[in-house]
Amino acid sequence: VHRVPSESELIEAFVRASGAAPRPPLGPGDDASVLPAQGPSCVTVDALLEGVHFRRSTFSLPDVGAKALAVNLSDLAAMGARPRWCLVALGIPRGFGLTEAKSLGRGLGSLARGNGVAVLGGNVTRAPGLSLTVTVGGDAPPAGPLLRSGARAGDEVWVSGTLGDARLGLACLERPRDAAARRLGAHPGLARAAVRRQQRPTARVSLGRALTPIATACIDLSDGLAQDASHLARASGVRLRITLEHLPLSRALRLAIAGADRAAQFAAAGGEDYELLFTARPSAARRVRSAGRRTATPVTAIGRVVRGHGVLLFDSIGRAVSGLEGFDHLA
Ligand SMILES: [Mg+2]
Repeated sequence: VHRVPSESELIEAFVRASGAAPRPPLGPGDDASVLPAQGPSCVTVDALLEGVHFRRSTFSLPDVGAKALAVNLSDLAAMGARPRWCLVALGIPRGFGLTEAKSLGRGLGSLARGNGVAVLGGNVTRAPGLSLTVTVGGDAPPAGPLLRSGARAGDEVWVSGTLGDARLGLACLERPRDAAARRLGAHPGLARAAVRRQQRPTARVSLGRALTPIATACIDLSDGLAQDASHLARASGVRLRITLEHLPLSRALRLAIAGADRAAQFAAAGGEDYELLFTARPSAARRVRSAGRRTATPVTAIGRVVRGHGVLLFDSIGRAVSGLEGFDHLA
């Protein structure tokens, strides 16, 4: 006979499997966690919901656990913060037992350990679908956090990594008959890598920290370059001019989407890149490249900050491209 585990047994199995818990009195195990008083902290919270952000059929439980933490680490990366701890609120459906809780904890824990993040505790409630709400906190950088509001006319616009791969990976998972996914059929290794970008995004934590004395503004790309760039432009009271030709695209994306402009537009509208979009004075370009090399993160200059408002994207013959909407997960 299977006994339904209690909520405290489930959360204990999850936290223990994460292997990232510090000893008491920090937590878990008491009614609240205890944090030593430190300097300024950066704190963020984000939820990952079954049916909205992932499906159980295409995401393993370790994938879900890891991604729930990664999306939060990406927000701290955008601030240049050093992640230290997390708290996890789980919503679990019927039939979710200790084995499942451990799988989820293992996925989150592997990423937590790799980033020096302690799992301080959590809470479990019954829910119609699986959900993870993760709160992450960490040390604000000594030079002050990177903000969205610091971009000034004349700055260069930079982005890390490659764009559009997570959107392409989602297409491979959700719409394998679409042209983009079918074109990748002959390149299973590249298709798998795109799918991994969707399931297991990498937060650019070390790059964010390296950029704190260099970048003038920063945001992480969760909703797509076009949309997130407009958030940065609004916060800074400037316009971003971005050249689509300069967007860093993976080989997978260039094979999957015919035509350089179309591939770049696909990337600019794609969500869940979890790359950093940032600005820096032109005189800081060498230091930006050096930060990229030190943290083994590719960085690419993609445009300029000018006076005005909003985001202008230019194609290869200099036409302004409009109508690039942000990206809505499983919509
Ligand atoms: Mg963000």
